[in-house]
Amino acid sequence: MLIDLHSHTNESDGSDSPSELIDIARRTQVGILAITDHDTFAGYDRALSAARDAGIELICGIEISAKLQGHSSHLLGYFTKTDELSGFREWIKQLQVSRRERNVRLAARLRELGMNITIEEAEARGRALTGRPHFAQILVEKGYAPTMQRAFDDYLDESAPGYVYRNEPEFFDAVQKIRQAGGVASLAHPIRLKCDVQPALPEMVESGLNAIEAYHSDHSPEDTQLYLSLANRYGLLRTGGSDFHGTTKPDVELGTGRGGNLHVPREVVHELKAASS
Ligand code: AMP
Ligand code: FE
Ligand code: FE
Ligand code: ZN
Repeated sequence: MLIDLHSHTNESDGSDSPSELIDIARRTQVGILAITDHDTFAGYDRALSAARDAGIELICGIEISAKLQGHSSHLLGYFTKTDELSGFREWIKQLQVSRRERNVRLAARLRELGMNITIEEAEARGRALTGRPHFAQILVEKGYAPTMQRAFDDYLDESAPGYVYRNEPEFFDAVQKIRQAGGVASLAHPIRLKCDVQPALPEMVESGLNAIEAYHSDHSPEDTQLYLSLANRYGLLRTGGSDFHGTTKPDVELGTGRGGNLHVPREVVHELKAASS
């Protein structure tokens, strides 16, 4: 049985519906799955009954975009008690409002740059959560960029001309919100941080961060070893997952990552449950 604690549905920027994702988990022998859509629980909520039917243990998760040292970074939240989340669910509604407001400006900015693109087209793809990857898909389909990556590099990346500011929550606030709701707060794919992880960690831990995503399909074995040793040093829980997005990231497989480079050990789940129960 495989474990995967990082996956996306088409309620955010994955390509599979919640029930399709459960079906993939069943076929690939993922027995414990966390759905961690960006800024929404909609995918988790909709997958619950299919997971129950398939005998898959579904863990409630979320991936929050938050500002850290001026850059957007990702924070995972895991909740084993889901009946006390009403306050947290109210808080993430604000994230959706700031995202919608950003998306309206992003569409306008891309039109300014000469592209024929509307907010309605992007939102038609985003369901619960429209993000820059949906804009990137449209730019590719309309021939403005040859690939999703080029759409980011040339237009959508923080350093590119189409980038518009988004009012994201502060990283430390997001950590506290997750912890106050009884969740485990895990630093997502630390390899992608724009700042050095080692000097940044003490302050994160002080603010309540209590886990680090040591296992991820973007991590080399050496990266994973480094993050495991940091987990050890700072008393953090370890989490891990593929970051499966379906056809949006076709080289990443549920449960096993890129070319089989992911293996999330069982103790990770035991420790996660012990810490948040
Ligand atoms: P958003 O939350 O709408 O601002 O979109 C952020 C998402 O876009 C991230 O989760 C990544 O999946 C993707 N993304 C951001 N920057 C890049 C980049 N430079 N190259 C590829 N994907 C990116
Ligand atoms: Fe994503
Ligand atoms: Fe992420
Ligand atoms: Zn993710």
